[in-house]
Amino acid sequence: MTTPQPRELPRQLAALRQRADAAAVAAGRLPTDVKILLATKTQSAARIIEALQAGYNLIGENRVNEVVEKARELAAFAPTTHFIGHLQSNKIGQVLPLVSCIQTVDSADLASKLSNRSVDAGRVMDVFLQVNVSGEDSKSGLTPQRAPEVAAYIATLPGVRLTGYMTVGLNSPDAAAVQAGYLQLAHMRDELKLDGARQLSMGMSGDFELAIACGATMVRLGSAAFGARAVR
Ligand SMILES: *Cc1c(COP(=O)(O)O)cnc(C)c1O
Repeated sequence: MTTPQPRELPRQLAALRQRADAAAVAAGRLPTDVKILLATKTQSAARIIEALQAGYNLIGENRVNEVVEKARELAAFAPTTHFIGHLQSNKIGQVLPLVSCIQTVDSADLASKLSNRSVDAGRVMDVFLQVNVSGEDSKSGLTPQRAPEVAAYIATLPGVRLTGYMTVGLNSPDAAAVQAGYLQLAHMRDELKLDGARQLSMGMSGDFELAIACGATMVRLGSAAFGARAVR
């Protein structure tokens, strides 16, 4: 009798988990301090269910319509869903009931609107402040100069709970430059000392081990888990 091959995705996810664990240990941290969030944009619900069944239940979506489209099929598997794309305030109402955290709060105005909608819905929504540590124009997020003021403001709002900080790192082969951005975000969290705001969502497929070395508590993995995405 031949042993069935483990399916490809669970094996891939286990390999990524091992790499994250090793990076944590190398940095003198506990593997359990680093969560893997699967960036599931463009993946079908069926494909996401494979990952959920393998025990990876933290997922992130970039587009409100994808959250909405997949929600019904995924509901039975009870994923923890974070929103990790740019959020337009007119879509807050759609995304709010379907996610447990919005990682991409990048203005006082968005925070305030989220606060109002959450209060109306009788919820307290976890949010991360998105900071643009790389300074690239193509990226969303507050400048590191503005971020502390907006973080302090969010901490005063009802209906939202600031639980961390998120950044999309510099897209560069220059590891030292990428690292500088991640260390800047970790430093900001430590300086702000806001109650309960401990998470650092940073690092993607190409640089997650570096991000873990800099203190990431959540890495967002897409292509390393699911393979290259179709261009769209
Ligand atoms: C797509 C995406 C990721 C994952 O990117 P990969 O390089 O495929 O791992 C992480 N974070 C955000 C915000 C994304 O949009």
